[in-house]
Amino acid sequence: MTAFDIHLVPCFTDNYVPLVRDMATGTVAIVDPADAGAVSAALDALGWRPSIILNTHHHPDHVGGNLELKAKYGLTVIGPRNEAARIPGIDRPVGEGDSVAIGGQTGAVLDVPGHTAGHVAYWFEGAEVVFVGDTLFAAGCGRLFEGTPEQMWHSLNKLADLPGNTLVYCAHEYTESNMRFALAVDPENAALRVRDVSVRAARRHDEPTVPTTIAVELATNPFLRADKPDFARAMRMSGEDPVAIFAATRKAKDNFR
Ligand code: ZN
Ligand code: FE
Repeated sequence: MTAFDIHLVPCFTDNYVPLVRDMATGTVAIVDPADAGAVSAALDALGWRPSIILNTHHHPDHVGGNLELKAKYGLTVIGPRNEAARIPGIDRPVGEGDSVAIGGQTGAVLDVPGHTAGHVAYWFEGAEVVFVGDTLFAAGCGRLFEGTPEQMWHSLNKLADLPGNTLVYCAHEYTESNMRFALAVDPENAALRVRDVSVRAARRHDEPTVPTTIAVELATNPFLRADKPDFARAMRMSGEDPVAIFAATRKAKDNFR
């Protein structure tokens, strides 16, 4: 079943902006428009007219296109309630428990603080898609600019609990460098080694590694594996609290070259 037609617009050096069209109604949403110029050019080429922006958090590479696109298309800007003051042009602040619609598809808003304090994700259960911004990346996670390891671990687990076949759209192509770190800390992970072959092949052909799936991330993403005994052993932290293991992993990544 394909409910959405999703087109990824590359922006700047490594951002992806998903353009999401509900096949049944033709309604189009833009997730985190980094740059108005690149996004409108892609919309025009597709012949799509957007009516909604969904923002996950306030960083400029996620909201930078809001005002220009709103002026051009007259669309509705939906974004996180807990950082509404920093979302340009916001019309509808949302948070955990709210739902949003793209045409006939309904999405649940999930609070996923950690990268920023008010970060949200949008989970479209029927379409089997989640838009996660800079919380979860393919084989990685966002840096903790405004949150604690405990908050981020909790946020990541909310995403990890979604159905395994859910397509995960994150906002950056960071996968190759994430994989280098993942293999360094979790070298015995067979699924990770298999994934490395496909990531390298995709990047060699300049293909995106996004979307990924929850199942792939559960098997290979070190930041979702802090509660797994084999990962704790690899980190030489057997028996320690998952939050401590997650925090140590995040810190190691911050310092990894
Ligand atoms: Zn960000
Ligand atoms: Fe970002």
